[in-house]
Amino acid sequence: MEEGVIKFRLQFSEAGPVDMEPLAELNRWRTVLWQQALIGQDPARYEGFGFGNVSQRTGADNAACGKRCFIISGTQTGHLSELDSNHYTLVKSYDAASNAVSAAGPIKPSSESLTHGMIYDLDDEIRIVLHVHSPDIWLAADRLDIPVTDSTVAYGTPQMATEVQRLFNETDVREHKIFSMGGHEDGVISFGTSAEEAGKILLRTLDASRKH
Ligand SMILES: [Zn+2]
Repeated sequence: MEEGVIKFRLQFSEAGPVDMEPLAELNRWRTVLWQQALIGQDPARYEGFGFGNVSQRTGADNAACGKRCFIISGTQTGHLSELDSNHYTLVKSYDAASNAVSAAGPIKPSSESLTHGMIYDLDDEIRIVLHVHSPDIWLAADRLDIPVTDSTVAYGTPQMATEVQRLFNETDVREHKIFSMGGHEDGVISFGTSAEEAGKILLRTLDASRKH
């Protein structure tokens, strides 16, 4: 487990706080997920590293792949119950092939930024990506019929991009709007056109995962 370690080459420039107004709904949902311990930091989990991150696209739906700008929560912010304008940052471009991310903001971007970018590239309509850690959902993925990425592929790697693409090509992940990361313990991603849509999918699935 290497939760929290940035594996991509990061080109980062310091910039002021982000505008929270367009992020209000995302930030509210991020707090809900934190309250459910789907985002957090716990000395007993993942060697004490923070886990979970959220993002929202900012530009036009049809922007070029690799340049679909998005605002993402900063690296190692999992311990915070609420985030503010200093805890989000703008990812300007990303490239899985060269394993590179370019960002600007008050904090370095989440170590899972590349995966968020890959998902935005796969569907124009996706505006929100939520990455959480849920042992309940992760262990129940097969029973709940949730698509799962290959267990040999680690998070934050270029291979994960290929694997997510495979799910979009070969499974009904577009309808589910949620998948489990087989090679990333407890890792789950949901997405949608709004934070409410992606957030409700997570809560509904969490609920279902606890019913036997
Ligand atoms: Zn994770």
